[in-house]
Amino acid sequence: MTTQQEKVIPSKYIPDVGSHVETIEGNDYLITNDAMYTFYQRSKGEFSPFFLALRDDKRLLGCKCTNCGLVRVPPFLTHCPDCNFAPTELIEVDQVGIMNSTPPITYFATSLFQDMAPYGRGRVIFNGADTAMSVNLYTTTGILVPGIFKKGTEVKLIFRDDRKGEMTDVFCVPTVELSKEQIERKGVQESEINWEAPIEPKLPQADDQEVALYNEALEGIKSIIEEMNTNERARKDIAGWKRHILVKTTGGQFAIVIDDGDIRLEQREPASPDFVMVCEDPRTLLDGLAYRGAITDSVINRKLWISKNMEFNTIFKLDRMARSVARSKKS
Ligand SMILES: [Zn+2]
Repeated sequence: MTTQQEKVIPSKYIPDVGSHVETIEGNDYLITNDAMYTFYQRSKGEFSPFFLALRDDKRLLGCKCTNCGLVRVPPFLTHCPDCNFAPTELIEVDQVGIMNSTPPITYFATSLFQDMAPYGRGRVIFNGADTAMSVNLYTTTGILVPGIFKKGTEVKLIFRDDRKGEMTDVFCVPTVELSKEQIERKGVQESEINWEAPIEPKLPQADDQEVALYNEALEGIKSIIEEMNTNERARKDIAGWKRHILVKTTGGQFAIVIDDGDIRLEQREPASPDFVMVCEDPRTLLDGLAYRGAITDSVINRKLWISKNMEFNTIFKLDRMARSVARSKKS
């Protein structure tokens, strides 16, 4: 069941044929792009039925000891070490379970997992199982922040639309974010869930002071964005990237438009923003853009909210632009 013509090594990681000169301590060194590669195939061995059930039937299997009856999920043993190695048999378990600890969240992943971040990684005891399974965690409510998943949170197993027979074919979301029908039905796929209805934090009513603060911060943000737009390093940070961001603060709102190297601030609401950013105090964003603390940290610390989890990537790029401008000033 190969669904797409994807390559084992994505083409973006494959360098062009060529060479360049690097100068280190006054000496020039010629660096040439070359390759060394080994491909291999990996068998899932006796775990094949488990992965095939995930991939082809959207079922979650465990193994049950024929002697003590303990159910292990995933089915990582064919014989029970507690029962003088009595054989185990495969059984299907429920796709609803409980977090058995509060999971850590990965915001800055290695290149292998970058496309999945931010994600939680935690252990879930599915109904019918006696052991916990490690699984990735996502929310449909916007950016994944601490507090959404805790020890005891009830979660549902969700299947990727495109499955390869890997653990990343599945992930969990909190059951409170699903309909009763979705919680009860097995084999719910990611495309069946509503990812377009994030829960936006409510902003307080603005008074004159808040509006004055907004106007002042807006001037600061505008001038930094103009500076970014003329900075070569910063422009490179958003090459090929296009986003319309609606920014909401207590005192007012505006848009940031990223357009393949160009960045600008617009004082009007974009017709259909790619995502929404909410920060009560506009100085949170101002400080981040001015390289006084990272915007990504403000997201993690819940001072700045974004409506789409995967747009953490864009926030990361804004941080990089702030750093690029700061570095240009130094050198
Ligand atoms: Zn046993």
